[in-house]
Amino acid sequence: MTTGDLLIRNVRPMNAAACDVLVRDGRIHATGPSLAAPADAVVEDGHGALLLPGFVEAHTHLDKTVWGMPWYRNDVGPTITERIENERRWRAATGHDAGAQSLALARSFLAHGTTRLRTHVDIDTDAGLKHLDGVLATRETLSNALEIQVVAFPQSGLLCRPGTGELLDQALREGADVLGGLDPQGIDGDAIASLDLLFALAARHAKPLDIHLHESGVPGANTLHLILDRVEALGMQGRVAISHCFCLGDVEAAERDRLLSRMARLRVAVITTGSASRPVPQLLACRAAGVLVAGGNDGIRDTWTPYGMPDMLERAMLIGLRNNLRRDDEIGSALSTVTADAASVCGFADYGLSPGCRADFVLVQAQNMAEAVVARPPRQCVVARGRVVARQGLLV
Ligand SMILES: [Zn+2]
Repeated sequence: MTTGDLLIRNVRPMNAAACDVLVRDGRIHATGPSLAAPADAVVEDGHGALLLPGFVEAHTHLDKTVWGMPWYRNDVGPTITERIENERRWRAATGHDAGAQSLALARSFLAHGTTRLRTHVDIDTDAGLKHLDGVLATRETLSNALEIQVVAFPQSGLLCRPGTGELLDQALREGADVLGGLDPQGIDGDAIASLDLLFALAARHAKPLDIHLHESGVPGANTLHLILDRVEALGMQGRVAISHCFCLGDVEAAERDRLLSRMARLRVAVITTGSASRPVPQLLACRAAGVLVAGGNDGIRDTWTPYGMPDMLERAMLIGLRNNLRRDDEIGSALSTVTADAASVCGFADYGLSPGCRADFVLVQAQNMAEAVVARPPRQCVVARGRVVARQGLLV
């Protein structure tokens, strides 16, 4: 789809001097002071706003959410297994509509300035590909504005639920972009066999991997080494991300540094929520080691958690708080986890504010990027693929 020219006057890209931005055919065409308005261009006054690239949500679960539904009363036990079993029971009993729910939450992400998003979709032997079908429909519905990357995710385990591997295989054939994994030792009980199966599937479809690793301490580190061994042996450098990776937050410093240096060498990324409930990978230590870190909410308002907002400035703030980031440059690192670094980790192309990049951006009234993160001002305007799609937090 092509769109007409859009000229945005008087904005400050990433806090640079005020300028104008001309958008043509859905891409940034030029930036500079006092650009001439082409005939028939739509002209938008930015009122001196800070201009940020469209936000990237690197880890969420659109299919699980009860966003906009009546409050879900959470009486769930504290273990991952209890949460998994509870969710499967609840979905079977309620006939949860992953299509309608993912659309409602994805639209809210867009209204808050997110223009690219990676979502994990549950694939299991009870629901089959039902949730995938719903999320693929959402991806299609919003394709003119929001780029959605779908991870085929074995939430109930892979080895421990025979038949799941075949369903993942089918999901990758039917449009999933990434293969997901889950605690190869903690849930599947056999890290080597589980990872061998997972990596073989990824190789068969030539897809990247994004593995949920909740396993902590030395056992988690051992699993992480097994993952890194396979990245190296199979040439999957730059195509694997580890979500949560809690073990990096609670192993001894020497082992943590050994893992980080292996990850940097193999270009294996970390995706973090900045969880308050577990030790997390330290953002600055990862960055110092050369490991890319992306940010995500994980589930938002679902049977796992009552918390979360589809607002990536809020997520950047929470990651900043969790890492005790106070300096402006450090808060800028937190913002990177939901902008440029997240785009790199997920492989979203043509990202940024340079000419040629896709015209996805957000205008907010803030003095600078650090203030945008801590104050989370209303989104004055959101532009996606060259069109204004939202104002003041509401889709237009
Ligand atoms: Zn998750």
